[in-house]
Amino acid sequence: MKVAVIGTGYVGLTTAVALAYLDHEVVGVDKDPRKLELLQAGKSPIHEKGLDELLQRNGHLRFTDDTAAAVADAQVVIIAVGTPSRPDGSADVSFVEAAAGEIAQGICGPGPVTVVVKSTVPVGTNQRVANVIRRVLEGRPDAPKVNFASNPEFLREGRALEETFYPDRVVIGAWEDEARVTMRRLYDRILSQSFTPPAPLPRPTTYQLPVLVATDPTSAEMIKYASNAFLALKISYINEIAGLCDRVGADVKEVATGMGLDRRIGPLFLGAGLGWGGSCFPKDTAALLSLAGEYGYTMPIVQAARDVNQRQRQVIVEKLQGALKVLRGRVVGVMGLAFKPGTDDVRDGPALELVRILQGLGAHVRVHDPCAAENARRELADVEVDFCADVYTMAEGADALVLATEWDEYRGLRLSRLVGLMKTPVLVDGRNLFEPEVARAAGLTYVGIGR
Ligand code: NAD
Repeated sequence: MKVAVIGTGYVGLTTAVALAYLDHEVVGVDKDPRKLELLQAGKSPIHEKGLDELLQRNGHLRFTDDTAAAVADAQVVIIAVGTPSRPDGSADVSFVEAAAGEIAQGICGPGPVTVVVKSTVPVGTNQRVANVIRRVLEGRPDAPKVNFASNPEFLREGRALEETFYPDRVVIGAWEDEARVTMRRLYDRILSQSFTPPAPLPRPTTYQLPVLVATDPTSAEMIKYASNAFLALKISYINEIAGLCDRVGADVKEVATGMGLDRRIGPLFLGAGLGWGGSCFPKDTAALLSLAGEYGYTMPIVQAARDVNQRQRQVIVEKLQGALKVLRGRVVGVMGLAFKPGTDDVRDGPALELVRILQGLGAHVRVHDPCAAENARRELADVEVDFCADVYTMAEGADALVLATEWDEYRGLRLSRLVGLMKTPVLVDGRNLFEPEVARAAGLTYVGIGR
C-alpha cells in the first residue's frame, strides 16, 4: 500500500521504517530540517535499536517536507505529530489539526484515502480531524472519499521497533467498515506475523499473535490514555510501597517479585525508584485529568499517581541529605540522564529534574549518560553542570553518586575503583540496579530505594 506518515519523531519514524520493511511504499514527512537532512542521508535522528540498520537498506522508504506531494496518491495517511501539554495540562492538539489541514490540501488521488490518527489525542480529536478535512474537501467535486481511523500507539521507547513488529495488540477505532478493512490490510503481516524478522530484531521466542481490537474512535482514544495512566500508577504504587519498606525494613525488590508472580498483577512496571518521566506518562496523565475536569469529574487515583511520582524526586534528595547531611558545596554525580535506558530521549526526564533540584540546593552537579548527553546538554543549557565523559572521571573527588537511569553499561562498573576515586563513597541507587551486599563489600555506602 502507499502510505504517508506525517511527523517522523519516535513514533512516526518507527512506524514508517517498520511499514517499509513490510513492503509498503512509505513517505515520511517532517518539517524539521535537521531531522530531514539526517533521514535523507539514511541516518536516524534518534537512538533506537535496529533503526539505523533498517533505515540504511530500505528501498521502500523516502523522506520529504512536502506534505501535499506525500499524500497526493497515498492510500493511507498516518498522523504521528506531537501532542504536548498546554500550561493547564490539557493536550495541545494544534499540531494534529495543522497536519490535518495540510493533508486535506494535498489529497487528490482517486481514493479512497484513510486518514489515521496515531498521535495520542483526547476524545473527540478524530472527529475534529475528520471535520477539518471534510470542510476543505467539501467544495471540490473531484475530492476522493476519505475514511478515518484512530490507531493509538503503544510502543515503549528503547524498544520502539521491537514493539512495532511484535505488539501485544493493534487498536483500531473507526466509524466505517472500509477504514477497518484498510487498516487490517496495512497491518496484515504484523497481525499474521508473516514476515522474516529483521536481523537486529528477532521475534521473541514466547511471542503470540497480537490481538486486533476493532472499536469506535472514542473508545480507541480512551484505551490509550487509560493504558498509560494505569502503567504510571503501577509504578507509583510500588514507589509508595517502597517508602513503607524503607520504614519497616522490608526489601521492595523482594516484595515486587512476590507480587509480580501473581498473573493478575504481572512483573512489569514494578521497579521502585526515582519515578517515571518521559514524553508520555507526565503529559498523558495530565491530559486525562484535564479531560475529566471538562466533565466536572475527578480522578483521585490518577492524581495520586502523579503526586507520589513527584515525591520520589524528593525521596532521593532526602537520602542524599541523610548520607551527606549538608548538600551545599558538595560534588554530586548523576549517572544517567535519559528518562529510561535504551533511548536518547530526555523530555520530562526525572534525572534532569533531580539535577535542577540538586543545583538549586547548592550542590556542584556532574552528569554522565552513555547516549543522551547531547539532548541533555540542550535541555540543561541554563544550569551550571559538568558533563563527564565517563563515570570514573565523574567520581573523582565526588561526595556522592546518584544512579538515575539503569543503563546496562552501569552494571559493569568496577565499584571498588569508584570507591578509590570518590571523596566520600556514597551511592544512592535511584533504580535499585546494584546488589546492596556487593556494593557495600566494595566499600560503598549504599542507599537504595525501599531496601
Ligand atoms: P516527536 O516530538 O518525537 O515527533 C513529532 C514530529 O512531528 C517532530 O519531528 C515534528 O517536527 C513533526 N511535525 C510536527 N508538525 C508537523 C507537520 N505539520 N508536518 C510534518 N511533521 C510535523 O513525538 P513522538 O514522541 O513521536 O510522539 C508523537 C505522538 O505519539 C504524540 O502524540 C505522543 O504522545 C504519541 N506517542 C508517543 C510515544 C513515545 O514513546 N514517544 C509512544 C506512544 C505514543
